[in-house]
Amino acid sequence: VTALLELDGLTRTFRTRRGTVRAVDGVDLTVRAGETLGLVGESGCGKSTTGRMLVRLLDATSGRIAFGGRDITRLPPRRMRPLRGQLQIIFQDPFSSLNPRRTIGSIIAEPLRVQGVRDPGPRVREMLERVGLGAEHADRYPHEFSGGQAQRAGIARALVTRPRLVVADEPVSALDVSIQAQIVNLLAELQRDLDLAYVFIAHDLAVVRNVCARVAVMYLGRIVEIGDRDTVYGAPAHPYTKALLSAVPLPDPVAERERERIVLRGDPPSPAEPPAGCAFHPRCFKAQDRCRVERPVLAEVAGRQAACHFPEVH
Ligand code: SF4
Ligand code: MG
Repeated sequence: VTALLELDGLTRTFRTRRGTVRAVDGVDLTVRAGETLGLVGESGCGKSTTGRMLVRLLDATSGRIAFGGRDITRLPPRRMRPLRGQLQIIFQDPFSSLNPRRTIGSIIAEPLRVQGVRDPGPRVREMLERVGLGAEHADRYPHEFSGGQAQRAGIARALVTRPRLVVADEPVSALDVSIQAQIVNLLAELQRDLDLAYVFIAHDLAVVRNVCARVAVMYLGRIVEIGDRDTVYGAPAHPYTKALLSAVPLPDPVAERERERIVLRGDPPSPAEPPAGCAFHPRCFKAQDRCRVERPVLAEVAGRQAACHFPEVH
């Protein structure tokens, strides 16, 4: 089976006053049609930059993006346009991504107009119904919407062209906790109905657990662990994954009280000055001399891949 999306050594550098920053550093990933891949990590780890590159909102510095078997890494905008509708993105802050001067109907119609659809009205109304807003909202403006309604509109805009892959970049983190589950459920329902693949970006591992069949954990621009959800959540191999998971509350209060909590030392280092060897070593509870000099690469560990010299074995 050909992968829907394949990233090969995807890298993005930025020039800053402090030197060149490798925001994303050699990411390899495969997304299959119809699946949901979670991309998790602390803020600044490069997950949003990866998401923006893979929908071609941001150019890659090096590496390769193949979509449906076709290399799209450097397709010029004119040749990218027909593919735009197949690769969409949902942003974290629905309000800043919706033009305040335009009606919701016209915002949702825009991707269709780009594709040359002459009468987008019927499809806009259908999408408004599908996302639970109702066609009568088409003439309203973003400021008249609640956060949850605005995100439903953002989802409608992303899905109106019937994409095959949607990057959802922290789609619920700006919303009230009380409506996060509604939006996550809506995304799952739309996936079943429309046969979409998602790359679901989140800093919250609890959110990803419910929606993703596979999960990739990023740290300082690299993937440090990737595998099936149950394998990674059930028995994390990378110390960083283990630490992140130890902060996710457990539903069972007894298990919650008795579990081991790992508190990471300090903040993630600046990507402008990545530590030598394993970039995680200054914060790692298992670091040894080798970790300070030798950079670990992703390798098979008990049914998933992890980049660690001393992975947890269970
Ligand atoms: Fe920790 Fe060493 Fe593994 Fe890095 S390679 S995660 S420092 S044990
Ligand atoms: Mg982000």
